[in-house]
Amino acid sequence: MTGGPLTDPRTGPPPAGRPGSGPDPDGTVAGGDGRKLRQLAELPASVLRGVGAAAARELAELGIESVLDLLTHYPRRYIDGTRLVPIADLTQGEKASVLGEVMRVSRPSGNYGRGRRRSPSRVVVEVSDGSGSLQVVFFNQSWRAKQLAVGSQVLFFGTVGSYRGQLQLTGPTAEVLGTRGETETEAGAGTEGAGTEGAGTEGGGPAVSAGRVFPVYPLSDKTSLTSARIGRYAGEALDRAGTFADPLGERSRRRFDLVGRTTAFNDIHRPTAMDDHGSARRRLAFDELFRLQLALVLRQARLQGDARGIRHVVAGPDGSPTLAERFLDQLPFEPTDAQRRALEVIRGDLAGPLPMHRLLQGDVGSGKTVVAVGAMLTAVEGGHQAALMAPTEVLAEQHAAAVRSLVDGLTVPDPATLEGRRPLAVALLTSKTGAGERAALHQGLADGTVDLLIGTHALLTEEVGFRSLGVVVIDEQHRFGVEQRAALRAKGRGDDGSGHDPDLLVMTATPIPRTAAMVVFGDLDMTILDELPAGRLPVTTSWLRTPLETEEAWSRVRAEVAEGRRAFVVCPLVDGSERVEATSAVAEAERLSGAELAGLRLGLLHGQLPSAEKERVMADFRRGDLDVLVATTVIEVGVDIPEATVMVIEDADRFGIAQLHQLRGRVGRGGDPSWCYLLSENDTPEAAARLGAMEASTDGFELADVDLELRGEGTILGARQKGRSDLKLARLLSDGDLVVHARELAEELVADDPELAGHGLLVDELRIFIDEDEAEFLFKS
Ligand code: ADP
Ligand code: MG
Repeated sequence: MTGGPLTDPRTGPPPAGRPGSGPDPDGTVAGGDGRKLRQLAELPASVLRGVGAAAARELAELGIESVLDLLTHYPRRYIDGTRLVPIADLTQGEKASVLGEVMRVSRPSGNYGRGRRRSPSRVVVEVSDGSGSLQVVFFNQSWRAKQLAVGSQVLFFGTVGSYRGQLQLTGPTAEVLGTRGETETEAGAGTEGAGTEGAGTEGGGPAVSAGRVFPVYPLSDKTSLTSARIGRYAGEALDRAGTFADPLGERSRRRFDLVGRTTAFNDIHRPTAMDDHGSARRRLAFDELFRLQLALVLRQARLQGDARGIRHVVAGPDGSPTLAERFLDQLPFEPTDAQRRALEVIRGDLAGPLPMHRLLQGDVGSGKTVVAVGAMLTAVEGGHQAALMAPTEVLAEQHAAAVRSLVDGLTVPDPATLEGRRPLAVALLTSKTGAGERAALHQGLADGTVDLLIGTHALLTEEVGFRSLGVVVIDEQHRFGVEQRAALRAKGRGDDGSGHDPDLLVMTATPIPRTAAMVVFGDLDMTILDELPAGRLPVTTSWLRTPLETEEAWSRVRAEVAEGRRAFVVCPLVDGSERVEATSAVAEAERLSGAELAGLRLGLLHGQLPSAEKERVMADFRRGDLDVLVATTVIEVGVDIPEATVMVIEDADRFGIAQLHQLRGRVGRGGDPSWCYLLSENDTPEAAARLGAMEASTDGFELADVDLELRGEGTILGARQKGRSDLKLARLLSDGDLVVHARELAEELVADDPELAGHGLLVDELRIFIDEDEAEFLFKS
């Protein structure tokens, strides 16, 4: 019945299929004998015995509609039933796991403590496991009375104490596994297939027996579903699914040390030993990552397949130095080795026929702008133009000013002039560029007399057209959507579509760990600037917790200003409203000017100010006409003022690590010692982890690891959602090896068989997990 419909509830497991014996002769990727995920995706969960309309509704609450949803609703942990201690054998003072049934729940009232303090509310639960009974007490957790209803089968873990001569657990962890009816008759049924025993004990004891491993599933308050019931449904689904078709052949499984898919699904839902689910998880996580990498590698291949790239000129005329080389030579500093290496790689990309899709990751202050300009000048060398898009006006203006000064004196050939050359032309375009200036700019872009265009989203407006756009750079790429990046690139083809696909360099100063980047930016090549310019001193970072400690920050600000240097004060982040945030910044600037920072020249910068005002304040601060800039997070990205040496961040616990690191990156950019003060009285473990990490490290990549560990991958993946919803088990940090393996295999496969013509099963699976547009793009033929 392999591959047939799954309809008859009494049908047992079909005879074992032969995974790995498919049409793929070398066994890299197997063919399709056995149950396909597609079939399971098409079956509603209600085909399972015991899943009636009500249960189906409850499952839907958990996002489970199909049998595949059910089988990919993975346990979040397991309880080792083999290590349970019978209540009769408990010893006072030891930590123990106890599995028992709730016999009685009470909420005694009244004062039993000494003194006049109100005693906390109590929930007292009496638990029995057939060998004896035990009192379990919870203080100030009145919801426990509802959670631990009479008849529940509950696993407790805690230290055994005693009260008035009776053994007692106080405030243990408690995991409800099921209810009496379920576990007695059903847990047993659900485990038959795995060959374990599920028989209950007799006489009022727990129906769930010791000696097996219990999966604990993610549940919802909105349903009465229990882990035992989900486990039973999953067990039935597994019995009836039988052998799974395995897209990975014998050879690949051995190569990456992966179990077969049938084993994996069975062991993740009903492991017989505590060790089993580890290898099951590894295999299923690999599958998630493999599908994802396959989609990314295919996407890369498709983009290149359709591309009309430019082979850029990377050598100067008659052996003379190129524009980019002249640019590097005239820099006021020596480029770092990392900058040189990055430019070399980019030069290679630009010289090739396929458009570059490259991500440049570099910590704050690593000098990405120089690399970007080098790439842009290579476009100009061959008579093309280049555009750089930044997320804010402040940043675009700063880039324009910096680039203008960096390229000052460079000339490009121009037969229309007397000397045959003209100065390299750099233009700035933001939403506040005036109409007249704008019209002239459009003209210059169209006739090619503007070489480098720098700006904000304003670059995306329809009127902006290039004579020949050769390189596109996106700074702080995470601030832009996929569509915006694509829209700027599309300007290379032009209105009539006759142009080229420009080479693309996206830059980010929010480093993410390498394997995470392979997932999030897997359709981009990657270069890392892993070196800061020489002479940079690490920013001394202190977390100040009390008003007394905080005084250190303000006295540092005063001392540095007295030496002619400058400081930032970042005001608290206010949820949701830029206006409220602005108001609080205004108030804080006011307060500081009358208190800790009296007598200093304070400027104010927030998102609600008119552009002209923002620009004026920035210019004053840059020039040194202001000593201190009190600001909201508008200064978060990119702002580059070498004389700024102190950064004070108020309510620092409200910011994430990446944001704090960005803010700190605003100082320490010159050669002077710098300080970052994190003000926060909040010393909850979460805040302490973040602020402590900031104190301990100034390395953006190291902090990115910490951040990923603390926050999980949700936030990183959120940045580029598409096709990533499939990652349920895979962990970007701990599964780094799997990411690498998955990438390897995906690349081999696509190189071998770009259309995946011989891999129907894989393609079919991929289509389940990616959205329609993406599938259309990847498999249009
Ligand atoms: P980020 O990578 O954060 O965007 P920037 O490109 O803004 O960094 O560079 C930060 C500062 O360092 C700028 O003032 C820039 O001129 C300077 N800079 C860049 N490269 C070097 C270098 N090799 N040596 C010294 N200073 C450099
Ligand atoms: Mg930058």
